[in-house]
Amino acid sequence: MRYISTRGAAPTLDFRGATLAGLASDGGLYVPEAWPTLSRDEIAGLANLSYVDTAVAVMAPFVGDTLTRDELRGLCEQAYGRFAHAAVTPLKQLDHDQWLLELFHGPTLAFKDVALQLLGLLFERFLTGDNEGSLTIVGATSGDTGSAAIDAVAGRAGIDIFMLHPAGRVSEVQRRQMTTVRAPNVHNIAIRGDFDTAQALVKAMFNDAGFSRRFRLSAVNSINWARLMAQVVYYFYAAVRLGAPEREVAFSVPTGNFGDVFAGYVAAKMGLPVARLVVATNVNDILHRALSAGDYSSATVVPTATPSMDIQVSSNFERLLFDLGGRDGVALAGQMGGFEASRAMRLTNAQHEGAATHLTSASVDADGMAMAMRWAQEHANEVIDPHTAIALAAARRQTLNVPTVTLATAHPAKFPEAVERATGMSARLPKRVGDLFEREEAFDTLDATFAAVSDYIAARATPRS
Ligand SMILES: *Cc1c(COP(=O)(O)O)cnc(C)c1O
Repeated sequence: MRYISTRGAAPTLDFRGATLAGLASDGGLYVPEAWPTLSRDEIAGLANLSYVDTAVAVMAPFVGDTLTRDELRGLCEQAYGRFAHAAVTPLKQLDHDQWLLELFHGPTLAFKDVALQLLGLLFERFLTGDNEGSLTIVGATSGDTGSAAIDAVAGRAGIDIFMLHPAGRVSEVQRRQMTTVRAPNVHNIAIRGDFDTAQALVKAMFNDAGFSRRFRLSAVNSINWARLMAQVVYYFYAAVRLGAPEREVAFSVPTGNFGDVFAGYVAAKMGLPVARLVVATNVNDILHRALSAGDYSSATVVPTATPSMDIQVSSNFERLLFDLGGRDGVALAGQMGGFEASRAMRLTNAQHEGAATHLTSASVDADGMAMAMRWAQEHANEVIDPHTAIALAAARRQTLNVPTVTLATAHPAKFPEAVERATGMSARLPKRVGDLFEREEAFDTLDATFAAVSDYIAARATPRS
C-alpha cells in the first residue's frame, strides 16, 4: 500500500513513512493510493470477531508489508488492552432504532484514545532500529487531543512530546490529565494566549524547515493518516453487530476537524453498507454550510459547551474534497491555496454532488443539545456528554428507517457543568482515573512568541543524529 499527498507534489510513501511524517511536505495530507475493499462475505465474517481481530482484519490492507499480521495483532492487543470495557467500543440501545457507540472507555475518557493509543505504539515500533535520533512531537490542544497523546507516548523510547495548551482555557480535568503525567519525555507548556495562538506557534515551528529537520518534528493531530485508519475499525465493528452486510446502518458523528466522520466515509468506500453519515456540527457550522450549499467559508469561532467542535477550518475535509474531485492533486492544491488566501471557496459540482450521496449535515444549537441530553436521560436513562448530544440531536432529525448509531465521543464526566445544567445530574469520573485531583502537576508557562517556545523545545529535545 502506497500513500499519496492530496496536493500531488510530495513523495509517495509507505505506511511507515506516512505515519512518521504526519503532514506531507507539499502542505497536503496523505491518503491511500486506492481504497482496499472487503467483500460481502468478508464483512459477514467480521460479525463473530473480537475488537482486536476486527481491527487486524480492517487495518491489515492499509499497513501493507510494513508490519506482519502478528506484529499488528500484538500492537492492537497492547493498545486496546488498556480499555475499561471488554468490547472496547460497546453499543447501547436508546430506542427502537437509535443506538450509541461508546468510544470513551480508554484511559483519558475521549474517543481520541482509540487512535492515539495505537499511534503511540506505531511510532515506537517504527523508530526501533532507526538511528536518526528521537522523534519530537509538537502539538497544540484545546483539551482532548493533548491528554490522549500524552497518555499514549509517556515513557516510550525515542519520542519527546511538547504539548501547548492555552493557559487557563482548558477545563481542570483536561489540564490535570496532561500535567499530572510524570514521565521524562512529557513536556507541558501553558501559553499566555488562546488556542489559535498556540496552534499558530506550532505551525510556525513546522514551517521552519531548519528547526523541523533538526528536531525531526512530527504531528499527532488527525492529519496523521494512522489515526483515521484506526477509527475505521469501529464503524465495521458496530455495523456488523447491527446486521451488516445484510442490513444498512447509518452513523451520526459530532464533527470538528472532520477526522472521525471521514473514517466513516472510508468504511463506506471499503464496502461497508453505510446508509448515511450525518455530519453534526454546533453553531460553528462551516461544514454544514459546505455540505448543504457548497459554501466553505470560515467565520469567527464562537465558544460553546462543545469545545472540540469549535472549529472554523476542518483539516480533514481536504481528504474528502480530493477523493470526490477525481483525486486531482494539482487542481486541489489550487483550490486549497485559494481558500488559504481568502478563507473562502466553493465546492465544485462533482464535490458537492459526490458528498450528497454519502453525507447529510445538520447544525445544532445549545437548546437542541440540551434537549438531546434530557431525552437520553429521560427515555433511556443515559447521561451523555455535550458533543454526543449534538450528534444525537442531529440523528433524531433524520428519517432514515435503518439503525442509526450516534458516536459517543467523550465520557460525560469530562464536561460536568454542561451535563448538570441540562439534566440536573452530576456526572462522576470513573474510578480508573484515580486520584487525578491529588496528583502533583508539572507545566511551564511561556509567552506566546516563537522565540520563547522554540528555545524551550531546543533546550530539551534530542536533535537528529
Ligand atoms: C475531537 C473530538 C470531536 C471531533 O472529532 P473530529 O475528528 O475532529 O471531527 C468530537 N467530540 C469530542 C469529544 C472530541 O474530543
